Amino acid sequence: NDAFYDVHLQPVAASALLLLSFQNATDLAHAEKMRRDFVANVSHELRTPLTALMGFIETLRSSARDDAKARDRFLGIMSDEAERMNRLVGKLLSLSRVEADQHVRPTTELDLRVVLRRAQENLAQLARDGRVDVRLDSGQAPLQVIGDADQLLQVFTNLLENAIKYGGNDRTVDIITRKSAHDPVLRGPAMEIVIADQGPGIDPIHLPRLTERFYRVDGHRSRELGGTGLGLAIVKHILNRHRGRLKIASQPGKGAQFIVVLPLDA
Ligand code: ADP
Repeated sequence: NDAFYDVHLQPVAASALLLLSFQNATDLAHAEKMRRDFVANVSHELRTPLTALMGFIETLRSSARDDAKARDRFLGIMSDEAERMNRLVGKLLSLSRVEADQHVRPTTELDLRVVLRRAQENLAQLARDGRVDVRLDSGQAPLQVIGDADQLLQVFTNLLENAIKYGGNDRTVDIITRKSAHDPVLRGPAMEIVIADQGPGIDPIHLPRLTERFYRVDGHRSRELGGTGLGLAIVKHILNRHRGRLKIASQPGKGAQFIVVLPLDA
């Protein structure tokens, strides 16, 4: 049985309702708790690499001072940790930018095929490293949608990066595009872009929380692969701005499918 989860995205107008409902003391407390959790998470995520860096600096100053081999090795680790911090700060900035223009509807007409090809190019090295074959369906006709090209590139780059990272080495990732005459949630014609991997998939119990900031199924594995836990939260916000939605289908053991749905009559 396919586990199927639909991340119902709030239409922009709903944010007004959300504000109103915050009048309620319980909701206010909840919002405040979420803010506190977020700050605590960010601090923790930044402190981990920082602590490692401080430890290695201390070691370089003392015991490893005259050991060239150890010095090189430690400097390599320090460089990785600094990169991790840099990635995290980059993702935090993306998230905050996306949140800032949440209510501004994108107006540019663009060809999704160009965006998908660029995402594929961005991740060509990662795919080569894992011997992952990324196949973009062979259609040539432009796929016109109204959107923000940079943000949609972020959406597909994040999803494709996950499919390559979590889908496992020596596998295939498929990008499939199709039109839906009537999307039942968007209530109109829609463009669907499916990113399907052949990895271990995701246990259905995780699906409802997957787009939460810093939510990871396997934190250790995510960190090992350079993940920040923010990729899908960014995807959700960007699709929200486009009045689209994200569907996640997963059959443990048989791979995951992330389906981006964008309205065609926007
Ligand atoms: P991360 O930076 O950790 O990859 P994301 O927000 O992009 O953060 O994803 C959240 C979590 O969802 C990941 O840590 C991973 O556990 C899980 N996940 C995402 N995509 C896939 C996939 N294609 N297959 C299996 N698990 C996935």
